[in-house]
Amino acid sequence: MPETFTQYFLRQGKDEFDLLLFDIDGTLSSGGRPLPGARELLEHLSELAFPHLLLTNDSCNSHREKAALLHECGLPVGEEHIFSCGDVLKLWAARTNYQGELLFQCGKLGDPSYAELAGLRTTEDPAELPRCAGIIFGEGDYDWQRQLEAVFNSYLRRPELPMIVVNPDSYWPCSDSDAMGIGSGAQARFICTLLAEAGITVTPCYIGKPYPLIYQGVEAELESRLGRPVLPHRIAMIGDSLYSDIQGANANGLRSCLVLTGITTPRLAAEAPPERKPDLIFSAV
Ligand SMILES: [Mg+2]
Repeated sequence: MPETFTQYFLRQGKDEFDLLLFDIDGTLSSGGRPLPGARELLEHLSELAFPHLLLTNDSCNSHREKAALLHECGLPVGEEHIFSCGDVLKLWAARTNYQGELLFQCGKLGDPSYAELAGLRTTEDPAELPRCAGIIFGEGDYDWQRQLEAVFNSYLRRPELPMIVVNPDSYWPCSDSDAMGIGSGAQARFICTLLAEAGITVTPCYIGKPYPLIYQGVEAELESRLGRPVLPHRIAMIGDSLYSDIQGANANGLRSCLVLTGITTPRLAAEAPPERKPDLIFSAV
């Protein structure tokens, strides 16, 4: 059985890494409960004041809401330790000059809204779609049929509209059952598939893991907090998904650390293609 990340960190990781990025589901918690060693490791990192962030593709809970959910499941996480793909909307809006533009929003983007914090204006009213400069996918509970049909019809008339998908995940584990929820990435790709049948190509702009924007966003955030450049190979990304955690870390030059407490079995890890091979494998955090 491989050792835990905590054992590695205490032995040599604290000298090898300047920063730790943790995935949440399947890495620190599962089914609304902390995974073994997660609480102790987070407490220890706080005592050491060792820089760490929870890097999440959850775009429908603000930092305050996410920290409260994590507290409920027994993980002592402050708002300042959350970094969501929603936070990267600010970087996207600045680079694309979309600040102040009105976007049509499917689903939720937290309270306060990550879109508002990025200087974007949003509406969920299909009647306003003709005035919108793009479509943005949030997530969570909403009236899919009404919103997605409005989006589909809008693209039939205006195929040039940008589509921003904050969380690219296809599905996610529900915290109160062992069922899976259908994610916003899957909803966006469903619309793109329908449009392709109608002869229209729409290429979504994805923001969350494993896409590069979230890594560029978190590195910019860390540099501004630490007041110095961060070296990607001194950052450890610890997660349970070969796709969203390991491939994203590898592609962006981070040290990729797989934990076997989530969706990846030892066999899947052993058979991973080169771009998804973790640098290090641990039994748990
Ligand atoms: Mg995970």
